[in-house]
Amino acid sequence: MSKVLYEKDIQKEVLQERTVAIVGYGSQGHAHAQNMRESGYHVIIGLRPGKSQKKAEADGFEVLSVADAVKKADVIMVLLPDELQPAVYEESIKANLKEGNALAFAHGFNVHFSQVVPPDNVDVFLVAPKGPGHIVRREFENGSGVPSLYGVYQDVTGNCREIALAYAQGIGSARAGILETSYQEETETDLFGEQAVLCGGMTSLVKAGFETLTNAGYQPEVAYFECLHEMKMIVDLMYEGGLENVRYSISDTAQWGDFVSGSRVINDETKERMQEILEEIQSGEFAKGWILENQANRPEYNAINAREKNLQVEQIGKELRELMPFVKKPLQQEEQNKE
Ligand code: NAD
Ligand code: MG
Ligand code: MG
Ligand code: MG
Ligand code: MG
Ligand code: MG
Repeated sequence: MSKVLYEKDIQKEVLQERTVAIVGYGSQGHAHAQNMRESGYHVIIGLRPGKSQKKAEADGFEVLSVADAVKKADVIMVLLPDELQPAVYEESIKANLKEGNALAFAHGFNVHFSQVVPPDNVDVFLVAPKGPGHIVRREFENGSGVPSLYGVYQDVTGNCREIALAYAQGIGSARAGILETSYQEETETDLFGEQAVLCGGMTSLVKAGFETLTNAGYQPEVAYFECLHEMKMIVDLMYEGGLENVRYSISDTAQWGDFVSGSRVINDETKERMQEILEEIQSGEFAKGWILENQANRPEYNAINAREKNLQVEQIGKELRELMPFVKKPLQQEEQNKE
């Protein structure tokens, strides 16, 4: 098993003597910046004028332009949307990097697919929390953390690994576990996980189940509870104790159904599709499609996004959740209420 690192494996000094610029203050940015500050590191923020900038200032940070933050910092963590990173890198980051600086990312996409090509006189590392930004913050505030992967792409100072580990500690991951990876592995597994399982796989499974029941004439409310609402409870059991814990808690009838029917839904054909998806990620084909989609101002992304909002499962879900005040408000709403 690969070695999982915790607090005792971290040398905080290497990062305490450096200034960290967090570029971007969105989902990951606000969490990294606040957690790092509370962990005792010196953090400044690089942003363009706008909503995020006001938020970062209100949270008490020194906020500079991206170029000025890069000039002032020793470690630069780029937390801009992946599709905007190449342009901002060319315009405001590249020329302001000094020899011996460290350039860092929370996802390997742009470096791995050569959309950002760092100069060879700076350290380059990655710290990728395996969880959404708001959870990175929430868990830290709870005294816990989200696990992270770290990887060294380029080590010119001889300290890159220690800096990366201290960074991961700063955002709270040493409380949960830090695991070594490479840019290639992080990029490919992250894209595969979100496409095949966590995002694409799961939303499609929910929609397919919901539609099967409603097409057969069952009430949409009942189909919603069965196929979407209950998902969280099953996932919580899995998170806490694996598949065995799910099966411990469900009835034997449900467990028998799991055994005889699960592999008919997710079958050898599904696995072949997963293999295709993985190969498209590995070959760069997926990356190329997403880069071109952005260059064309996202015609397909926007069309699908609009269509998905109108799905019956979404409409009925909104109505039902109004009646379930115990269901936590979506993160977006929680954020808006704070402002
Ligand atoms: P986001 O969209 O939530 O936030 C982006 C931030 O960048 C915002 O503060 C925005 O104001 C700022 N920004 C946008 N354009 C800018 C510009 N031209 N100049 C300066 N600032 C600009 O992004 P995110 O989801 O936090 O993603 C950041 C990185 O973290 C990505 O590499 C992503 O893959 C990675 N990541 C995200 C998550 C997640 O939970 N969202 C999880 C793991 C890794
Ligand atoms: Mg998003
Ligand atoms: Mg991921
Ligand atoms: Mg991802
Ligand atoms: Mg049931
Ligand atoms: Mg059982």
